[in-house]
Amino acid sequence: MSFDLSEDHEQFRRSVRDFAQDQIAPHAADWDRDHHFPVDVVQQMGQLGLFGLTAPEEYGGADGDFTSLCVAIEEIGRVDQSMGITLEAAVGLGINPILTFGTEEQKGTWLPDLVEGRALAGFGLTEPGSGSDAAASRTKADLRDGEWVLNGSKQFITNSGSEITSLVTVTARTGERADGRPEISTIIVPSGTPGFVVEKAYDKLGWHASDTHPLTFADAKVPESHLLGERGRGFAHFLAILDDGRVAIAALAVGCIQACLDLSVEYAGERTTFGKPIGSKQGVAFQIADLEVMLTASRQLTYRAAAMKDAMKSGGGPTAKEFKHAAAIAKLYATESAVSATRIATQVFGGYGFMQEYPVARLYRDAKVLEIGEGTSEIQRLLIARGLGLPVE
Ligand SMILES: Cc1cc2nc3c(=O)[nH]c(=O)nc-3n(C[C@H](O)[C@H](O)[C@H](O)COP(=O)(O)OP(=O)(O)OC[C@H]3O[C@@H](n4cnc5c(N)ncnc54)[C@H](O)[C@@H]3O)c2cc1C
Repeated sequence: MSFDLSEDHEQFRRSVRDFAQDQIAPHAADWDRDHHFPVDVVQQMGQLGLFGLTAPEEYGGADGDFTSLCVAIEEIGRVDQSMGITLEAAVGLGINPILTFGTEEQKGTWLPDLVEGRALAGFGLTEPGSGSDAAASRTKADLRDGEWVLNGSKQFITNSGSEITSLVTVTARTGERADGRPEISTIIVPSGTPGFVVEKAYDKLGWHASDTHPLTFADAKVPESHLLGERGRGFAHFLAILDDGRVAIAALAVGCIQACLDLSVEYAGERTTFGKPIGSKQGVAFQIADLEVMLTASRQLTYRAAAMKDAMKSGGGPTAKEFKHAAAIAKLYATESAVSATRIATQVFGGYGFMQEYPVARLYRDAKVLEIGEGTSEIQRLLIARGLGLPVE
C-alpha cells in the first residue's frame, strides 16, 4: 500500500511550518526557560484548525485524515516539542476519547470548544502506583444516588491544569467482575468539580512549556451521565486510544530528528576547527549521515502507520491488530532514534550544545520522555513480540 504524502499534505505542511516558524520558534527558548504555557498560541493553533483536523464538520472539525494530524505534530514539534505534545495530547488524549466513545450529548457539550482550541482536555490513566500496568488502577468511582463519587489520584496528566482545561476523562474502578478482576470505566470530570484538585505542576526534565499535573479526587461528584462509553470497557477504550497516540508521538519524534539534522548540517558548515568546517571531518559528517538515515526510516514507519489508520477509516485496509503492530514499531523506532539524534546533535555542537540557549540542548532534554509517554519502549517491544506470536509475559 502507498503511504507517500500527497501534494495537499505537502502544501498543508508548508502552512503549518510557516505558522510554527513565525509564532512559535522565536519564543520557544523563553517559554522553556520560564516554564510558561502559552495559552494564546495554543488558541492560535486552534484557530488554524489544528485541533479539529480529524474531527467531523458538525463539531467544527475538518473531517480530515490522520496523516494530516501527524504532519502538523511533526512540524510544530520541529520547532518546539512542548507545543508539539500539547497538540498531540489535545487531540489524541483530549478530543479522541470523547469523539470515539461519547454520546451525542457529550460530544455536543464538550467537542466544539476543544476542536476550536478554546478549551483543552486531559486523559487521566496513569496513577502513582500504576503506569505500564494500567489495569492496576486504584482510583474508584462509586455510583451513589445518580452520581459517580470519585476518590483517588492520577499522575503526570498532560493538559490537565491549564487555564483553559475544561475537563479530564479518568479511568476508575467502578466495581468488580465475576472473576474478581476490577471493572474499569471512563468518566468525564469537568474542571472546577468540587473535590477534584489539580495539584502543582511538575518540575520536569524537559517539555517545560507543556502543562502536566498530578490530580487528586476526594469525593468528587459528577452526574451518572458523565460515564464515557460503556461501563466496564474503560481499559479497552484507552488501549484503542493509545494506538493512535503512539503514531502521533512517533510524528513528534520525527519532528525532533528533523530539527537535529537541520541544526547539525548548518552548524557543521559554519564551525571551523583546524582551519576547516567540522563538516569536512568524517567523524562529524558520518554522524550527521546517520541522522539522515534515522529520519528517513522513522518518517517512513510513522507515515506507513498513519496511512494504515486512514485506510481503516475509509473502511478497508489493514486489521486493527496489524495497525497496533505498525503503531508500536513506529513509536519504538522513531522515539529511540530521536533520543540518539539529540545526543548526536549535541555532540556536533560541542560545548555550545550543552548551553541552554542552544536549541539542541532543549531538544536533548525534551527527547527522553518520548521513550516513556503513551507506553514505554519496553511496552512497545512487548506488543511487537506478542504480535509475532511469542509467548512473552
Ligand atoms: C511528561 C509526561 C506526560 C504524561 N502524560 C500522561 C497523560 O496525559 N495521561 C496519562 O495517563 N499518563 C501520562 N503520562 C504517564 C506515562 O504514560 C507513564 O509514565 C508511562 O506509561 C510509564 O508508566 P510509569 O511511569 O508508571 O512507569 P512503570 O510502569 O513503573 O515502568 C517503570 C519501568 O519498568 C518498565 N516496565 C514496566 N513493566 C514492564 C514489563 N512488563 N516488561 C518490561 N519492562 C517493564 C518500564 O518500561 C519502565 O522502564 C505522562 C508521563 C510523562 C513523563
